[in-house]
Amino acid sequence: MTTEPGPARSSTPPVPPSSVPGASAKGTLVIAGRGNRHHEVVVVGGGNAGISLAARLRRYGVRDIAVVEPSGRHLFQPLFSHIGGGTAEAAEAVRAQASVMPDGVTWIQDSAADIRPETNAVVLASGSEVTYGHVVVCPGLQLDWHKVPGLAEAMNSPYASSNYVYELASKTWNLLKELRSGTAVFTMPSGPVKCGGASQKPMYLACDYWRQQGVLDQIRVVLVVPTATVYGVPGVDEELNRKINEYGVELRCNSEVVAVDAEGRTVRVHDSQADRTESLAYDVLHAVPPQSAPDWLKATSLPAKGESGGFVEVDPETLRHTRYPNVWSLGDAAGTRNSKAGAALRKQTTVLAKNLKAVLRGGEPKSKYNGYSACPFTVSRSTVVFAEFDDQYRPMPTLPKIHVAKERRSTWILERDLFPGIYWNLILKGRA
Ligand SMILES: Cc1cc2nc3c(=O)[nH]c(=O)nc-3n(C[C@H](O)[C@H](O)[C@H](O)COP(=O)(O)OP(=O)(O)OC[C@H]3O[C@@H](n4cnc5c(N)ncnc54)[C@H](O)[C@@H]3O)c2cc1C
Repeated sequence: MTTEPGPARSSTPPVPPSSVPGASAKGTLVIAGRGNRHHEVVVVGGGNAGISLAARLRRYGVRDIAVVEPSGRHLFQPLFSHIGGGTAEAAEAVRAQASVMPDGVTWIQDSAADIRPETNAVVLASGSEVTYGHVVVCPGLQLDWHKVPGLAEAMNSPYASSNYVYELASKTWNLLKELRSGTAVFTMPSGPVKCGGASQKPMYLACDYWRQQGVLDQIRVVLVVPTATVYGVPGVDEELNRKINEYGVELRCNSEVVAVDAEGRTVRVHDSQADRTESLAYDVLHAVPPQSAPDWLKATSLPAKGESGGFVEVDPETLRHTRYPNVWSLGDAAGTRNSKAGAALRKQTTVLAKNLKAVLRGGEPKSKYNGYSACPFTVSRSTVVFAEFDDQYRPMPTLPKIHVAKERRSTWILERDLFPGIYWNLILKGRA
C-alpha cells in the first residue's frame, strides 16, 4: 500500500487491541471489512482527523457513521518528538483504537484501497465495498523513504533514526543520550511534511541535554532545512536563531539531503541557492523523510489534475471537494494550503463538521477554515516557542497580548504536561 523501508514503517502494523492501553471497545460495532455495506457518512482514516470528526458529527446528531481504519492502535504523534528527546515515555503516545472510537460509530477495520466518487463507493483492501452518502477522506500522509537514496538503509543502521516512526522515536533518544562527541545532523525535506518543526525539536532537546551533561562543546550540531530561513515565520525565526546561536548549531538553509551513505555514515547535502553539494560525516543522524498523500489516493480522481502530492482537491475554506459535492477532506491528506499539523485540523474539524451537518439538513456549507496552524518548538527541556501562523506563514496569534512565540515555561507546561490529556479526553471526543 505504501512505500517504506524494512523496519521503519509509517503505516502501523496490526496490533491486537488487547496489547495496548484502554483496549476495551465501548459499544462500537467492529467489522472486519467483509461484505458490502452502506453508511450515511464514511470516514476514511481513524487518526487525529477521523476520530475527532466522527465524534463531533455524533455530537451534532449524525447517526450513521462508519470509520474505515486498519490499525488496532491510535498514535498521538506530537508526543513522538518528546519520546525522541527523552522527555516522554513511548507508552504515553499509544492507545487501543477501540478505546478512542466514538460510541455508536461503526469501525470497519480494513484499509481503503480506492474511492470511486462516480458510484459513491470506497473499495476496501479485502475486496468489499462501502457505499456512502458522504465520504470524508483523511488517511494521513505516506513517508516516501525511497525518494532519498540510502535513507531507508540508514534507518536500519545503528546510527540514524527518525521521530516520524513511532518505533524509531525511542531509538532516537538512545542515540542522542549516548553521544558524547562527534557530529549530529538533523534534517528536514522539501515539500509537504506534517509538523515541519518536528525536524528541529529533537535537536534543541538534545542540545539542552548535552549542555547539562557538559559535552555540548564537543559535539558539532548541523541543522539542514530547505527553507530560506530557519522556519519562515517572522518573530519565530528570531527566537529560534537565538537558541541556535546559544547552542552553537550550524544552520544550513535552502538545503536538503539528497543521498545517504549508511555504511560510510555520510549525508550528501545540496544547497539549492548556492547550487553546491557537500558531504557531511555524522555520528548520529535524525532525518525526516519526504512525504506525500498515500499512493492509492494519488491514483483516484480526487486530487487536482497535475498536483503531484496527491492531496484531495478541496475548497480550502469549506473543505468540500471542488468537483464532488459529497466528498470532503481534512487533516494531512487534504489539499489545503496550511502547514499540516494537528493544530490546523483542530480548526478544520469544527468547520467540516458544521458544513457537513448543514448539507445533510439541506443547507449550504457556510463555515470557513482560516488557514490557522501552529507548531510548538521545544527549544529546551523546559521551554517552548509556540508558533502560530496562517497559510502564508504570517503570525496568527490566538492571544496577541501573551506573546507565546517567545520562549516560555508556561507553553512547555501547556504542550508537554496538559496537551496530551486534552487530546485524549477532549479533542478525540469532538469537544475541543
Ligand atoms: C514527529 C511528529 C511530531 C508532530 N508534532 C506535532 C505537534 O507538535 N503539533 C501538531 O499540531 N501536530 C504535530 N504533528 C502532526 C500531527 O500529528 C498530524 O498533522 C496529524 O496526526 C494529522 O492527522 P490525520 O488524521 O490527518 O493523519 P493521522 O493522524 O496520521 O491519521 C491517519 C490515519 O489513517 C489511517 N490510514 C492510513 N491508510 C489508510 C487507508 N488506506 N485506509 C484507511 N485508513 C488509513 C492510519 O492508520 C491513521 O490512523 C506531528 C507529527 C509527527 C510525525
